[in-house]
Amino acid sequence: MIMRPHDAMSETITCRRCGTCCAKGGPALHLEDLPLLRGEVLSKGDLYTLRLGEPVFDQILGRVVLLASECVKIRSVPDSTACIFFDSKESACGLYASRPVECRALQCWDTRALAEVSRQPGLSRFEVVGTENAWAALIREHEARCGCADLLQLLRSNTDQARMSLRDAAAYDAALRDVLVERGMAPGRLEFLLGRPLDAVIRGLARWRSLPAGKSLPDPD
Ligand code: SF4
Repeated sequence: MIMRPHDAMSETITCRRCGTCCAKGGPALHLEDLPLLRGEVLSKGDLYTLRLGEPVFDQILGRVVLLASECVKIRSVPDSTACIFFDSKESACGLYASRPVECRALQCWDTRALAEVSRQPGLSRFEVVGTENAWAALIREHEARCGCADLLQLLRSNTDQARMSLRDAAAYDAALRDVLVERGMAPGRLEFLLGRPLDAVIRGLARWRSLPAGKSLPDPD
């Protein structure tokens, strides 16, 4: 069958609810999404933080980049990339009417709106917890001892002393998480407050240790 231009366009300018975008992962949040946390659409347990300097695959650029600022995202289903709010049976979003700004902007046939939203300031942990309280102090202390830029330097120097410092940082991170849970924090909130476990972050950084700060390289896969 010969497809007329209008037919071809009508196939590509509406969402067919295939769910591919939601199955690839939850969105990064932006300042515009803060009311979702204050209005209890989202809780901190629904979120995780990718910290400043972590290597991540940028869907829009199509390559791995070191994050230039931290980024709070909606979590994925364990052992899957799918957003926790994606109902794969119904191919539906569990919070569709209140979905975050990136989800509202996403049109898989034209990513310009999403690219525009992605350039807006991302939500940081401090916008969620505040800047002058015990939680903010804990985040700063953790960053001071486990910051990705410092970890990367240690990985690159690759001396005995550097390897010992990496082990110390990972042990501090693990012990801090244990203490927080012992004191009543739900384990699901740790990855929002402190980011991903440090041993996983170090493994990711080791893979990308040659990536210059603030620059990107093609994905080797
Ligand atoms: S919040 Fe909803 S629309 Fe956004 S990725 Fe998750 S399931 Fe999809």
